[in-house]
Amino acid sequence: MNLLDGKKIASQIIEQLKDTNADIVASGHKAPHLVCIIVGDDPASKIYVKSKEKACKQLGFTSSTIILPSNSTEDMIKYTIMKLNKDKTVSGILLQLPLPKGFHEREIVNTIDPSKDVDCLTDVNLGKLVSKTNDIAPCTAQGIMTLLHAYSIPVEGKHAVVIGRSLLVGKSVANLLEQENATVTLCHSKTKNLAQFTKNADILVVAIGKEKYITQDFVKDGAVVIDVGINRTEQGIVGDVDFENVQSKCSYITPVPGGVGKMTIAELMRNTLTLYTLQNDVALEQDANLDTDPESNK
Ligand code: NAP
Repeated sequence: MNLLDGKKIASQIIEQLKDTNADIVASGHKAPHLVCIIVGDDPASKIYVKSKEKACKQLGFTSSTIILPSNSTEDMIKYTIMKLNKDKTVSGILLQLPLPKGFHEREIVNTIDPSKDVDCLTDVNLGKLVSKTNDIAPCTAQGIMTLLHAYSIPVEGKHAVVIGRSLLVGKSVANLLEQENATVTLCHSKTKNLAQFTKNADILVVAIGKEKYITQDFVKDGAVVIDVGINRTEQGIVGDVDFENVQSKCSYITPVPGGVGKMTIAELMRNTLTLYTLQNDVALEQDANLDTDPESNK
């Protein structure tokens, strides 16, 4: 079994982006500015936003956080977003999800100007993703693909099974896997006899939010297992895959923490820089979309 070290690959990406940003600033441009919006006081959302702020600082990006009370009206949230859409000093807008219950999440997300939608979650940007005219992809889904590339794991012709069909993760990664010529099966909570699908997976991506749900019985010998789950337990953060039980069957597996989560943040930073360069027509000397060198990760 080999670990897919998201922490290591993410830090390589961060270093690349840091250099690119330094070049941009040296050429007289302002650094990209990411604004995160949190609605309510969910402690997990605050932790996620803190780690995004930390990454921005590491890269030399500007970051701001707007915290709106959970009793905000939808109009207040939309107004905040629309002001940021018009603000020329803002390059990226991230609305931390999920919103507290009762809000029309899709409607609010779609208020974000697609050219500033760093999470790639507006209908416009998801449509572009499906039609392959996209400049960016949802961060977690792209992070999974980057991790596969970084370890030279072949995707073409493989059977990829994705469990979970959220726009944020499951549906998006299923799209990206299909675009790289995997044959994709997308499973969800209504899938009957889940194991019959997962046991045929060369690449198994699990994004369901149920701690240690996937055990050996679901996994084919030699499979590549990507665990997206983040479940907070008394023992700390655990994934959707029972790592201890499953690892001996896998050719590669992501740890939790230290796997996909770190990649998500790195891809968010990459998206922020990509959108900034498009908005400002900045030509990059170095290709900020370069993948990491697979040879150095063996
Ligand atoms: P979500 O929106 O709640 O979607 C969960 C999906 O899992 C749904 O499609 C659901 O099916 C499916 N599902 C639930 N129980 C299932 C079961 N027993 N068998 C098969 N499918 C099942 O969650 P999400 O936003 O995609 O996130 C999933 C997990 O990833 C969470 O733990 C979240 O914290 C984590 N996450 C991690 C990162 C990261 O950076 N590592 C980023 C985002 C999310 P239905 O559609 O039928 O309900």
